[in-house]
Amino acid sequence: MAGERILIVEDETRIAEVLARYLEAEGYVTERVGDGEGALALFRRFEPDLVLLDLMLPGIDGLEFTRRIRAISPVPIIMVTAKSAELDRVLGLELGADDYVTKPFSPREVVARVRAVLRRARPEAKRAERYRAGPLFLDAGAVRVRCQENEVALTPSEFRLLEALLAAEGRALSRRELLSALGEAYVDERTVDAHIKNLRKKLGPCAERVETVRGVGYRVAP
Ligand code: CA
Repeated sequence: MAGERILIVEDETRIAEVLARYLEAEGYVTERVGDGEGALALFRRFEPDLVLLDLMLPGIDGLEFTRRIRAISPVPIIMVTAKSAELDRVLGLELGADDYVTKPFSPREVVARVRAVLRRARPEAKRAERYRAGPLFLDAGAVRVRCQENEVALTPSEFRLLEALLAAEGRALSRRELLSALGEAYVDERTVDAHIKNLRKKLGPCAERVETVRGVGYRVAP
């Protein structure tokens, strides 16, 4: 997705420039750094969504960098290596690299790998499915809800509740389950009732799809 941030750790300036150019042409935001120490510092400041990491770096090398980053972050890492030795590849992946590319590479291939790894790394909801229940339609990836083809504007909490209910495919969810879908497990369960009330109001003719199940919670009829 456009705007995702890529940290390019590469000591060969020319290669770093080519990668940055290709990635930026795809809408990614990039930062470049040529050594391990600098990369660690920049990592904290830039907070990248993905790291493109050259294995052979001056100072802290790519493997050590990965080890240190993995101690603090699950960020996807694609290892770039000129070494073809299988051992290094395996080591890199065991250490927590998500993919690797060997030099010489085509920039297009790197961009494709970046796209694929980022897609895999996105939270479940973002790459999730589309749900339909009668006239009610929810697209989790695009974060859109429609009722009878009319766009419905929901708050993030209302959206997550509706998404959880649709994903349950007709099963009733307890208020506690719905709170955890909101990421608010320690909040009063009546919060759910308040959100559901607002949700129904906004859903208009689709409101009746959200049923109250006495003694349990709520369900959306498939
Ligand atoms: Ca290098």
